[in-house]
Amino acid sequence: MSVFLLPDGPVQIAFSGGRTSGYMLHQILEANGDLPDRVEVTFQNTGREMPQTLDFVAEVGRRWRVMVTWLEYRKDAPFFEIVGHQGASRDGEPFEALIERRKFLPNQAARFCSTELKVRTAKRYLRSLGWTHWTNCVGIRADEPHRLNKPPPKDRWTVWTPLAAAGISRHDVAAFWRRQPFDLQLPNVNGNCWLGNCDGCFLKSEANIAALARDFPDRAAWWERMETKVRGLTTTKAAAQFSKRYSRADMRRYMERQGDWALSTDGALCQAAHGECVG
Ligand code: SF4
Repeated sequence: MSVFLLPDGPVQIAFSGGRTSGYMLHQILEANGDLPDRVEVTFQNTGREMPQTLDFVAEVGRRWRVMVTWLEYRKDAPFFEIVGHQGASRDGEPFEALIERRKFLPNQAARFCSTELKVRTAKRYLRSLGWTHWTNCVGIRADEPHRLNKPPPKDRWTVWTPLAAAGISRHDVAAFWRRQPFDLQLPNVNGNCWLGNCDGCFLKSEANIAALARDFPDRAAWWERMETKVRGLTTTKAAAQFSKRYSRADMRRYMERQGDWALSTDGALCQAAHGECVG
């Protein structure tokens, strides 16, 4: 029996707009045929996804004839809105609305952006459908044990990870997309899609943040603008930086001075100022 067969009851399939969850959706469609009404495929747009991600989500829906519900956080009740490819935010609007409400920035230790913009946004939508308990299908692979071995959520859903149950690794996902007539148009560097999810996410490596500042200065500018905005709302420095070690303005200035050298030299970014981290 296929591990991709749908469990009973309402099922949310979380499509992040990446290759892994796209592959998972494909396998579920293969195993079940057309999805019954009790299944919702959702994509939560933060507004900081690359345009290629938005195009990929739309193309998956079109080619595989599957209804993907695009959701965005809103700061006023009911705190979400259903959008579509055309109307999706493309300049961080949902993310900025959340920052304005919280008056501090998310960081490695306080990832409220993911909770609010993705998890709770989907939950609010599903609750609006009258769902009380459901299965949440997430694209965690067998080679991601750190994501798998988390305690089950104390919430309205049970997590279902069919990719892990099927023993799927990043190599299987890459091989699948090589066989498809279309793909996410973002580079895959050693199995890492560094432009996936939010473009300047603080969980990405310093080298990735530096590369964004160099290659996509307009996109990096949004993150710098958020730091400036929150500096005007708080007296705590930590609340107004995405990283403890450097501000996005520091990063931009550093890249303007050092450019490619910094990206091709191991440790360059961490030795910028007399052996201390940038910022
Ligand atoms: S990708 Fe990063 S910045 Fe975006 S919501 Fe997730 S944790 Fe937050």
